[in-house]
Amino acid sequence: MRLLLDAVPPQHELEGDRDPAGGLSLPRGRRLRGDDAAPVVVIGAGIAGLGVSLALARRGLHVSLFERAPVLDEVGAGLQLSPNALRVLAELGVITAASASAVEARAVTLRAWRSGRTIARVPVGGSDGTPYLSVHRADLQRSLVAAVVQDPRITLTLGTTLRGCRPIAAGHALAFETAGGGQTVEASIVVGADGVHSRLAASLGLAPPQDTGLTAWRMTVSAPSGGATGGIEAWLGASAHAVAYPIRAGQAINVVVLGHREAGTAGEPRAEALAKVEGWDPRLIGMLRGAGEVSRWPLLTVPPARRWHAAPGILLIGDAAHAMPPFAAQGAALALEDASVAAQLLAGSASAAQAFDRFESLRRPRVDRVRARVAFHRRIYHLPFPFSLGRDMALRLRSAERLGTDLAWLYDWHPPA
Ligand SMILES: Cc1cc2nc3c(=O)[nH]c(=O)nc-3n(C[C@H](O)[C@H](O)[C@H](O)COP(=O)(O)OP(=O)(O)OC[C@H]3O[C@@H](n4cnc5c(N)ncnc54)[C@H](O)[C@@H]3O)c2cc1C
Repeated sequence: MRLLLDAVPPQHELEGDRDPAGGLSLPRGRRLRGDDAAPVVVIGAGIAGLGVSLALARRGLHVSLFERAPVLDEVGAGLQLSPNALRVLAELGVITAASASAVEARAVTLRAWRSGRTIARVPVGGSDGTPYLSVHRADLQRSLVAAVVQDPRITLTLGTTLRGCRPIAAGHALAFETAGGGQTVEASIVVGADGVHSRLAASLGLAPPQDTGLTAWRMTVSAPSGGATGGIEAWLGASAHAVAYPIRAGQAINVVVLGHREAGTAGEPRAEALAKVEGWDPRLIGMLRGAGEVSRWPLLTVPPARRWHAAPGILLIGDAAHAMPPFAAQGAALALEDASVAAQLLAGSASAAQAFDRFESLRRPRVDRVRARVAFHRRIYHLPFPFSLGRDMALRLRSAERLGTDLAWLYDWHPPA
């Protein structure tokens, strides 16, 4: 890994004519110059940062990607990857590697918390046949990292933590802390992909993330011999729900319990998770008891009012821009969508300012719609008795086809052409 500290010219130079419409399509020969321009600086090598670095490099731009972790460890557990996310991975050229050990789902089975009885099966998958997969997050991350380190246009620097950012004549001075001390990198274009606790957002004075009062307890359990067969399942209870789905070619099952954190408790995570689902479907409880280490994730959300193009030349994407609780399993998908759109606009616009303004106006309606869906799921997943009876009946009366088309707007999204 090499740290790239080239001098940054005051402004990226542009080729070709200006595009007054600022449209998504890239007129031939008009883009931020690739080979002689200063790199776009990306903060954070999570899914958003790796994705946007690849998307920019694929369009000929140079990228300096800084990550605080000294090693890109296997963090997190399972992820559901909906068709909108998979189309971006295909665009980035990593779909084969990312899906090598993925498991395809045809539907999400909603179950009653106590009996495990099926309430409804909600079809998933794109209307163009793009599948819906479940993967281990580490498998996805590994495929993105492999593509990043092979791309000569990207310089990935690990063990480098952003501490602050201040405006200078040439753009921004980014102060990093490393094991050997500190250093300053000057940049005119910065993409903040540093997650829900974004230091970049904090250094711009943006409102901090908010606590949702919810916690996710995450774990992985070995599948019974012969592999996992349950597909994606969700048990709906009053004030909590649990989700289980196969990963690693069906050899393991990812389990998440999601519910309210009890005030003043911070006990052993497995005991907490088991307490949340006491009296629930014995099959679910069996998985919790048999799982490996259980990790506890307090769930935060970024205030909807946060601006993403928050300062000249700076754009926030992924969780740094719009973290929300995972009731629709869309955080990583939105991060990948952001990456694709941001790169397309940056490569195709007359200036970063134009690209980033356009990014906000294009992406905000979609992110708001996903946020509204998340709020809806949060309400209906955790309904107490007897309201849950009404929910279950409404779901049973709805045809599978109708349940599937309800989410077509979400899954049928395509990266900009
Ligand atoms: C329980 C749970 C289940 C989920 N399930 C799904 C799902 O099924 N499908 C889905 O699409 N999404 C899901 N999500 C959401 C998804 O995991 C996130 O939305 C996604 O990972 C966000 O990616 P990101 O790159 O924006 O942020 P992050 O993954 O947080 O990455 C940020 C990166 O920036 C680095 N960083 C942070 N600060 C600094 C700094 N100061 N300097 C340098 N580097 C820094 C971090 O080390 C990290 O590598 C789930 C989330 C949870 C909690």
